[in-house]
Amino acid sequence: MADCIFCKIANKEIPSAAVYEDDMVLAFKDLEPQAPVHVLVIPKKHVESIKELDDSHKDVMGHIFCKVLPRVAKEQGIDEKGFRVVANTGDEGGQTVKHLHIHLLGGRSMQWPPG
Ligand code: 5GP
Ligand code: ZN
Repeated sequence: MADCIFCKIANKEIPSAAVYEDDMVLAFKDLEPQAPVHVLVIPKKHVESIKELDDSHKDVMGHIFCKVLPRVAKEQGIDEKGFRVVANTGDEGGQTVKHLHIHLLGGRSMQWPPG
């Protein structure tokens, strides 16, 4: 999608520190990490948020949750102690980039409730 920063990252028009990639998904380090490990996992095909998901996204979302997140967590060394997975959605959800992304955070103790 034109003018979407994460589409540009997925298309390599903007560089990123990728930690995992396949034909459907890119995982890359957050520019402003909020934890020692802070990776964003995106579907390469643009979809704005969880609100816009439909049956056509089942494969990619299943792939992200069943394969990519556990694999990246393990590779980043945060699977044993634990980690947090977040999808900020919409304005009150704190979503600033309107291309669905899953935050994978770890390497420190997380607090609850989030701010
Ligand atoms: P949101 O606030 O939408 O849940 O998360 C957006 C995230 O994208 C933020 O954590 C922000 O630091 C990250 N981000 C924004 N622009 C870029 C960028 O150009 N490159 C990378 N690697 N991360 C970005
Ligand atoms: Zn996009």
